[in-house]
Amino acid sequence: MIGLISATAAGASARDRLATAWPGRTRVYDGPVGRAVERAFAECEQLVCFLATGATVRLLAPLLAGKTTDPGVVCVDEAGRYAVSLLGGHGGGANSLASEVASVLAATPVITTATDATGVPGLDTLGLPVEGALAAVTRAVLDGAPVALRADAVWPLPPLPPNVTRGGADTVTPGGATLLLTDRVVPLGPTDVVLRPPSLVVGVGAGRGVSGDEVYDVVRDALRDAGLSVLSVAELATVDAKADEPGIVEAAGRLGVPVRTYPAGVLAGVAVPNPSDAPLAAVGTPSVAEAAALTAGRGGELLVQKRKSSPEGRPAMATCAVVRRPPRGRLAVVGLGPGARDLLTPRATAELRRASVLVGLDQYVDQIRDLLRPGTRVIESGLGHEEERARTAVAETRAGHAVALIGSGDAGVYAMASPALAEAADDIEVVGVPGVTAALAAAAILGAPLGHDHVSISLSDLHTPWEVIERRVRAAAEADIVVTFYNPRSRGRDWQLPKALELLAEHRTATTPVGVVRNASRPDGTSRLTTLARLDPATVDMMTVVTVGNTATREIAGRMVTPRGYRWQSEGAR
Ligand code: SAH
Repeated sequence: MIGLISATAAGASARDRLATAWPGRTRVYDGPVGRAVERAFAECEQLVCFLATGATVRLLAPLLAGKTTDPGVVCVDEAGRYAVSLLGGHGGGANSLASEVASVLAATPVITTATDATGVPGLDTLGLPVEGALAAVTRAVLDGAPVALRADAVWPLPPLPPNVTRGGADTVTPGGATLLLTDRVVPLGPTDVVLRPPSLVVGVGAGRGVSGDEVYDVVRDALRDAGLSVLSVAELATVDAKADEPGIVEAAGRLGVPVRTYPAGVLAGVAVPNPSDAPLAAVGTPSVAEAAALTAGRGGELLVQKRKSSPEGRPAMATCAVVRRPPRGRLAVVGLGPGARDLLTPRATAELRRASVLVGLDQYVDQIRDLLRPGTRVIESGLGHEEERARTAVAETRAGHAVALIGSGDAGVYAMASPALAEAADDIEVVGVPGVTAALAAAAILGAPLGHDHVSISLSDLHTPWEVIERRVRAAAEADIVVTFYNPRSRGRDWQLPKALELLAEHRTATTPVGVVRNASRPDGTSRLTTLARLDPATVDMMTVVTVGNTATREIAGRMVTPRGYRWQSEGAR
C-alpha cells in the first residue's frame, strides 16, 4: 500500500489525482501531518509526501529503523513539478515510484542514488541475492577502481563497467574489491561481495502430512554439509502427486522459490544412484528427490545424493537431493518500433539496458546507442548478413551472456526472430519484446484501414519464389482481405508491385483506397492516400509500406477507413 500525505490545498489536489489514478494501491492519511506520516510509515510499504523535503526529513528522522525495513519515500513539491526519491531508492522502491508518480503528475523524477544516476547497475539490482560488503564494492564499481569478478561460470548478468574485470584468484589486487559469483559458501573479506546465482535445484520427496519444518531442515542441512548457499536455490522439484503437499509448499515459501513438479512416469525413466521401493509403491516411481532434481537440473551434476530427514524420535518423512544446473544465457529479441523514440516500448528499453551484448544491423544500433549502459559489447554488421547475425546472437547466448538481438518494427516480422530461434535449442532462455510493426505505424497515420481482416505480404522474392507470393496475393484478392505490402519495391525489383496491384484489381474496383506511407514515425515521414487505379509505383520504395483496402474500405475526410462490417454497424444503430 502507498500512503499519501499532504498539508496544503495544492498538495491535496495533487494527492487526489494520484489516489484516483491508483485506486487500489493508495491510502490517504488525513489529519495533522506529523501523526499522518507516523501512521503511514508504520502501515505502508511506500509513502508519497506532498510536502517540502526539509519538513519530510524532520518528520521521518525519528522513525528510521534501517535500509531493509524502512518504506520507500517520495516527496512531491507544492507546485507538483518534481517527484523526489527521498528514502529507500532501491530497497524501498522509491526510485521507480518517483518515476511512476512523475508520469501521473507530469512532473520530473529526481533520483540521486549513484548507480541509477550514472547508468551503472547497483549490485543489489542485478536480480540476484547478494551478501557481503555491498556499499564498499558498489562504491569501487562507481569510482572506477579495479574490481575483480570471480565467477564459477558465465551467468547472464547485465553489463558491468570496464573497471570490473574477469580474473582468477591471482589477479586480485590485495585490498582491492572483489565480486564473487558462486553458489558455494566462501569466506568473505572486508571488500568482497558475493552474488548468488540461481544454480541449485533441490529435489524433494515427502510422505503425506510431512511438516514444513522437516522439509526445510533436510534441505538446509544438505546444503550446509555440502558447503552450498541456500540463497542459490532456484526451485524445489518433486513428483506431480506432491504438488500440493503443504509441508513442501511451506518449505518452498520459506526459501522464496517455486515448486516444479513432474509426472511419476517421467521420473521413473531417470537413472538415479539410489532408487528404492517405498516411493515406487506410493507414487509410482523408484526415485522422487534424485529423479526430480536431475530432471529440473538440465543435465547438471548431482552434488548431494538422496538424504533423509532426521526428526527426533520419529521415522523420517522427507528426502532431498541437490543438482547444480548449468547456467543458461538469455536472448532478448527486441523490436525497436518504426523509428520514433516514443514508439519504443519501455520493456524494449529495459531489455536493451539488461543486455551485456547487443547484436544488430548498424543503422538500428545507431537508433538506440544512447540507451545502452556503459560496458555493453556491441556487435554490429551491415545490410544482409541476417543469418550470420542470428548465429552470432545465439552463439553469444550459448556462451552464457545476456544478449539483445534487435530489429526495427517488430523483430519477429520479416526479421531476426525466426532465423535466431531456428538456430537455438532449449539450452538458452529466450524473451521476446513486441514492437510496433510498420503496418500498424502506417495504419495509425492513414486512419483505420485495418478495421477488418487483414494480411501482410512481403513482395521480396529474394528468399521466396514469386509463384508463392503471387498465390498468396491472389488468395487475399479473392477473400477480399485488406493487404499491407512490405518490401514493396526496390531498384532491382520494380515489376512485382504493379503485378500484385493488378491481381488485387481483378477483385476490387479502380477506386479502392490505397495508402502509401514512407518512413512512418521518422522525421522525414510522408503519407499519401490514392486509389488502385491512380497509384504510381515509381513513388514507392523500400522505406515504404502500401496498404490496399478491401471492397468496403472508404476514404472519409481524407482518412482511410475499413468498416468493422455491416452487421456490427446495424446492431450498433439499433
Ligand atoms: N521488422 C520490420 C519489417 C522489416 S521488412 C517491421 O516489423 O516493421 C522491411 C520493410 O518494412 C521495408 O521494406 C518497409 O516496407 C517496411 N518498413 C519498415 N519500417 C518502416 C517505416 N518506418 N515506414 C514504412 N515502412 C517501413
